Amino acid sequence: MSTKLTIGILSVQGGVAEHVRMVEKLGHEAVLVRRTEHLANIDGLILPGGESTTMSRLLLLSGMIEPLREAIQGGLPAFGTCAGMIMLATTVLDTRPDAESLGVIDVTVRRNAFGRQRDSFEGELDFTGIANPVDSVFIRAPQIEEVGGDVQVLATVDERVVAARQNHVLVTSFHPELTEDLQVHQYFVEMIRSSR
Ligand code: GLN
Repeated sequence: MSTKLTIGILSVQGGVAEHVRMVEKLGHEAVLVRRTEHLANIDGLILPGGESTTMSRLLLLSGMIEPLREAIQGGLPAFGTCAGMIMLATTVLDTRPDAESLGVIDVTVRRNAFGRQRDSFEGELDFTGIANPVDSVFIRAPQIEEVGGDVQVLATVDERVVAARQNHVLVTSFHPELTEDLQVHQYFVEMIRSSR
């Protein structure tokens, strides 16, 4: 099972290059998804960190939000980190009233939930389904406050949920792409393979 995958990185705003680097380090092809037509011919899609309200605004302006939602609802595996997680959630708290999310994983997410002294921190996390502790960087990170029945919680920090999965959709509050730890991206690769 060493087939090379083509993994799209949503490139409207945010930390795209870091995910490209992880995908390429794992031996797969990374393509930038800037327009709706770039959603064709990818095996999976990563939504990066950045600023979810800006991402939402740009996706609405470009008309890309609906095709993106349909592609993921139709089975395209997706992985969102931080702002990317906010974009994938069904319900978002503490956001702008005009911000829209994709609603493809049944979680309620609170933006900027890790308070001031913990605006930014790094640590090792136990992650269900991954053998070794995962190196994680949190930056103005959201937390998951409620999960639906079909959602599996994968990691917590002080009992706060920071990683979850529902079928072919994976989300983390943190940024594995800002570390040298490839395990979460490898986990996403396995998700893509098992969904094919
Ligand atoms: N606080 C940002 C937001 O609400 C997310 C921060 C991040 O992606 N590092 O979109």
